[in-house]
Amino acid sequence: MRQNLVAGNWKMNLTYQEGLALVEEIVRLNQANGAGPEVVLCPPFPFLTGVGQALPQGGKLHLGAQNCHQKESGAFTGEVSAKMLASVGCEYVILGHSERRQYFGEDDELLSQKLKAALAAGLKPIFCVGESLDTREADETFDFIGQQLAAGLFHLSNEEFAQVTVAYEPIWAIGTGRTATSAQAQEVHAFIREQIARAYDAQAALDTTILYGGSANAQNARELFSQPDVDGGLIGGASLKAADFTTIIQSF
Ligand code: PEP
Repeated sequence: MRQNLVAGNWKMNLTYQEGLALVEEIVRLNQANGAGPEVVLCPPFPFLTGVGQALPQGGKLHLGAQNCHQKESGAFTGEVSAKMLASVGCEYVILGHSERRQYFGEDDELLSQKLKAALAAGLKPIFCVGESLDTREADETFDFIGQQLAAGLFHLSNEEFAQVTVAYEPIWAIGTGRTATSAQAQEVHAFIREQIARAYDAQAALDTTILYGGSANAQNARELFSQPDVDGGLIGGASLKAADFTTIIQSF
């Protein structure tokens, strides 16, 4: 179901002790988030159990991972399966982040397998799409995003797709301090919703949560979240500061 949602992607940052201090502060600052958005914290793998234990049960704060392997188990040294993530209390997993696509060669085929694995384990995927600066400047943003959705995501059944949150993350805005304007974000979010309506149906499009990610922060979140097709944010850098992250959570 479509919902307001803010996810924090900690990436490869912090020590375990720093991560625990951060989550404790986030919990403390968000005790009164009764009517606020769903919040997902996505720390590095080794922190998941500890961070999960610090989250109040049954509230609006959820645990997520930043990646998973496509196989259920086996001889894949160094990898972590979706089933393992579910077994330590993860509810969500980020898939298709541009850093995974760029640095780890994750393509549409692999991401399709990861999506299936995540869904089979009962995880809710946060599936990222987004164009490079070159693509935007060549005026090919919509073609590119349409292709990423068609090849990576729209193979899912209606029931599977209903579990997915989409995140629009223009690569040129991630970690650069250069945010998409709210109009740029809205335009692409509306396009994504349109593509979902074509691939599935109008109700599926209305029901899908679509997040914006890319240098969203405590100053610009309210403006971004005020757009009709922006249902929240996938937050990198600003999710590492409890006060800033809380301001973002309160920006609806
Ligand atoms: C991200 O990596 O998902 C992200 C949005 O990062 P940042 O907020 O730091 O741009």
